Amino acid sequence: MLVGLYGGTFDPVHTGHTHAALAVKRALELAEVRMVLAARPGHRGAPAENTAHRWQMLCLACDQHPGLVADDMELQRSGTSFTIDTVMAVRESANAVVPCWILGQDAFATLPIWYRWQSLLDFCNLIVVERPGDTRQEPEAVQSLCHTHEVQTFDPGRVGQIYRLNIAMKEVSATAIRSDIAAGKAVEHLLAPPVYAYIRQHRLYVNTENAI
Ligand code: ATP
Repeated sequence: MLVGLYGGTFDPVHTGHTHAALAVKRALELAEVRMVLAARPGHRGAPAENTAHRWQMLCLACDQHPGLVADDMELQRSGTSFTIDTVMAVRESANAVVPCWILGQDAFATLPIWYRWQSLLDFCNLIVVERPGDTRQEPEAVQSLCHTHEVQTFDPGRVGQIYRLNIAMKEVSATAIRSDIAAGKAVEHLLAPPVYAYIRQHRLYVNTENAI
């Protein structure tokens, strides 16, 4: 069974995330995509909003889309949220599960700073989607990993593959949404309606100090 795992701080979850998850699900015929909330991310700064708010927003967004499931496994673990621990746990949960970790090319370029990144492909596939507006060069270590693991045709029966999916993504980012909210600009079109309502209700991101 092919299972998509889409990790993020989701601070907040936006239509760029859900579009990417649904597009990969459809293209690779995944059974489901688990949206894994990075509770305590290891390789980036602390999120602007607390875990409880980010989790509520993620649940509201996933409720809109059958096939997307909010996953709290990194919330249940203590300590830093390492992707390797998540993919190992999913792979070991059932023999037939083939985890597919979905990530934007911006996140993919940062792979060498992830904990035990060289072991990730022993437990999952990496599905890379474009990130509009991102122009960064992939570091040499990533290029060399691609050299040995990138495939042009995806094999649903195994792990260890890097597969780039050529599907148009939306130019939406949580950073821009946070600063737009702080600046009083409209963001409604970038969020699922219940997520937008939740942000308004709890007055999230209005403090400019949080709008990094
Ligand atoms: P921030 O701006 O706070 O970094 P973000 O919008 O990049 O947030 P994250 O939660 O950090 O969102 O990202 C989680 C994953 O989603 C990463 O793999 C990232 O590349 C991917 N991603 C984020 N936005 C998009 C998008 N618009 N299209 C495709 N992938 C995206």
